[in-house]
Parts: sequence; structure tokens; C-alpha cells
Amino acid sequence: MTQNSHEPPEWKRELDSSIRSLDAMQRRFPAMVVTAAMRRAADLFPMSVTPYYAELVQRPEFDDPVFAQCVPDGRELQAPSWLSSDPLHEQNCSPAPFLVHRYPDRALIVATSACATYCRHCTRKRVSSTPDSEIPDSALDACAGYLRAHPGIDDVLISGGDPMLLDDERLDRILGRIRDVPSVKAIRIATRTLVNLPMRFTPEAVAMLRRHAPLFVNTHFNHPVEVTPQAVAAAARLVDVGIPVANQTVLLRGVNDSEAVVEALCRKLFHNRIRPYYLFQCDLVNGIEHLRTPLATGLRIMKHLRGRLSGMAIPNFAVDTPGPGGKIELLPDGILRADDKGTYLSNSRGDVIYYPDPEV
Ligand SMILES: *Cc1c(COP(=O)(O)O)cnc(C)c1O
Ligand code: SF4
Repeated sequence: MTQNSHEPPEWKRELDSSIRSLDAMQRRFPAMVVTAAMRRAADLFPMSVTPYYAELVQRPEFDDPVFAQCVPDGRELQAPSWLSSDPLHEQNCSPAPFLVHRYPDRALIVATSACATYCRHCTRKRVSSTPDSEIPDSALDACAGYLRAHPGIDDVLISGGDPMLLDDERLDRILGRIRDVPSVKAIRIATRTLVNLPMRFTPEAVAMLRRHAPLFVNTHFNHPVEVTPQAVAAAARLVDVGIPVANQTVLLRGVNDSEAVVEALCRKLFHNRIRPYYLFQCDLVNGIEHLRTPLATGLRIMKHLRGRLSGMAIPNFAVDTPGPGGKIELLPDGILRADDKGTYLSNSRGDVIYYPDPEV
């Protein structure tokens, strides 16, 4: 393909032709049924789907893993009392606008509220349902000031929304401003564009990101059908220049809540140099009750992965809890019990092994 400098890049054309209503989705998938409850859900939580991501839908029904992640579902209207709009209390942990500081050594910057495709299970539905907004330069300066005043923060996450929806020049400026803070060592970009807009990673964008190393990209594949040749090629462009790519999966009922699906996903990611990092329990956020699984499901899946997959391909299963609670890692039982001389362990086959402590 030849580059024509007068034409917008392919990823912008892709975004411009996104599917933004149930009626548009139905035109794309004539067999799709649209109900009144789905329309109410779409009014409450916006939809937007890139044509690229829509292409991964195999059947326009809610038991399709891609359809279920991007099409408003009447069940989003369920509102049991344990759900809220900000279950992690991020707004209480925000010492400066657009900045969340929940861990001593890490801070998160919400760079934009826009996403290429709005995930039905999004934790920040409260952000994605506001009109698209980008961090203004004045707020960026205030964030950089906060980072300078808190040199204990050495790891900054750029999140959103999806920061890769910003232009290269804008993102370059944001990254530069953060890089200028001497105490900041690692920068991580949290993006789902590898999954829903992989053409975003143009050679120019990758070269720009490379200039801000050490930089990491964390992405969000939930199902093996999302790991397409285009996505794999985009990840390879990053990894080839030394930008590690890690994956954070969210465990979703009917999408990936089985041993076989998570195992296939982790294998495929690992083989393509995308390191499985987290398997997240759904947050207690409004509009996602129908996608939540019991904690036991994740533990069962973790038990299945252990002993079958290399540790390199096994994510950490974690549940995020409000405010200072933070992420809590959950393990299928490895420790059975301890006595004063050692510990009884169990492996994935259920064998019991005694591990003695040193005598002195
Ligand atoms: C998840 C999160 C981080 C990063 O946590 P890691 O476990 O290091 O990936 C940082 N800040 C906030 C606010 C977070 O929610
Ligand atoms: S890409 Fe991330 S921030 Fe955007 S809707 Fe999906 S989960 Fe939410």
C-alpha cells in the first residue's frame, strides 16, 4: 500500500466508519434481533464498534464472544445493590484531575475518555459514558508536577479510555512530559487497540513509542478469536523494537469462563510473545452483572492452567477491590497447612508434598 500524505491514516478511516448504533449494527448483521431492552441499554451506555472488530463476530447473538463484548444487552439494566459506578473509588484516590494514585510506587493517568470500541464490561463505564474528552495541557502539567513532588512514583500507567486514540503528536507530547520527570522509570500504555484497531500501530507510531523506552504496552485480549494475524503482526512490531506486550484478560460469563478458552488464549498469546499478565475478576460496576462469574470459576481455571502451561503463559488471577484495598491475587490452593517444622503443599494433580523449613 502506498502512503498518501493527504489521506488520513487507515486507523482514522476505520474509526470514522465505526458502528455507533444498534440499527447500524443490524444493517451490518441482518439476522440480528434488536429488542427494546437493548435500546434502553444503548441509551444508558454508549456503543461504538470498529468495522475490524465487527468482522470477528461469527454469529450476531449474545453467545458469540465478540458480539457479547460490544453490543448493548438488555441485561445491562440490572442494578443489584452491590454495584456502583466507581467500585474502585478511583475518584477518591485522585489527588489531581486525570490522575489516580492508589499504590505508593505507581500512578495512573486517564489520558482520554474515548475508546475504539466500547466494551460492555468496562470498569470505567462512568468515563466512557461521558462525552469524549482528552487531558488538557494544563492538567498534564499538574500531573507532571504531582509526579515531581512524589518521587516514590517510578511507574506511570497511561490509561483511559484508550490513549492510543490520541494522535501520535499528542501522545508523544504526553509521554515526553512524563519522561521529563527524573523519578519516573517505567511507562506503561494500557490500550485495547491491539484487539479492536491493530492498524493503529503504524511503523511511525511504533518508532515514536520506542523513543520513550523503557515503555510497556498492556493490552486486553479476552478470547482466542481476537488474536488475529493483524493483531499478532501489530504486537510483533512492538516486541521487535523492544516494547514488551502483556495482556490483561477479564473473566466474562459466556465469553471466556471456561478452562479450554482461557488455556487456548494464553497459549496463543504466549506463542506470539504477548505475555499473559492478569486474569481479572469483573469489578462490581453498574451494567455488567450478567457478565460476572463467581470467584470459584477463576480459581478452577487457574488450577487447570497450572501443570498444563508454562509459568510464562500463566496470568495472575486477581480481583480489584475499592480504593486502598487494591488488587488482591487469588491462588488455587498451593499451601494446605503448616506445622512448626514445615509446610504441606498440594500440586495441580492433587498430590500432597511436605516441604521442611531449615532447622535454624
Ligand atoms: C491496576 C492499577 C495499577 C497497576 O497495577 P499493577 O498490578 O502494577 O499492574 C496502578 N494504578 C492503578 C490506579 C491501578 O488500578
Ligand atoms: S478499551 Fe478499556 S477503557 Fe475502553 S471500553 Fe474497553 S475496557 Fe473500557
